[in-house]
Amino acid sequence: MKNDCIFCAIADGEIPCFKVYEDDAVLAYLDINPFAEGHTLVIPKAHFTGLLDAPDEILAGLLARVKRIAAHLKATLPCDGFNILQNNGAAAGQTVPHIHFHIVPRRGNAEGGIAFASTKGDMDALAKLAERIRMA
Ligand code: 5GP
Ligand code: ZN
Repeated sequence: MKNDCIFCAIADGEIPCFKVYEDDAVLAYLDINPFAEGHTLVIPKAHFTGLLDAPDEILAGLLARVKRIAAHLKATLPCDGFNILQNNGAAAGQTVPHIHFHIVPRRGNAEGGIAFASTKGDMDALAKLAERIRMA
């Protein structure tokens, strides 16, 4: 493995995968621990850790492929909807530090969507926070 990255090894064909899509720049394959049938990972073949170090051109191409693959999965699996997940950093649950989008097919009417617990927002605190973090 050239850089100890399991997704680079998959992109290089050193580790097998259940391929869903491939072109010069992008590879998509089934997640081996699926959240749902058809859970697919979409990666650039080039190594970048996450959203912040991947160049904009790479991200633009990657997201266009995510859209095409998601449309294909929706029609062929089929599924009723899908979640796109993209984790950045261990604190966000990223376990493989090679940028990837998850396409998670959803069926029926899933209550609660993704399992984040929400809290009722304090309007004053939200206003202050937005002021503090607003981009110039
Ligand atoms: P993360 O938590 O980093 O966003 O997601 C990494 C995903 O990669 C996990 O859902 C995990 O099941 C999947 N994964 C880890 N190793 C392999 C592998 O060798 N092959 C495939 N197909 N998926 C993997
Ligand atoms: Zn990699």
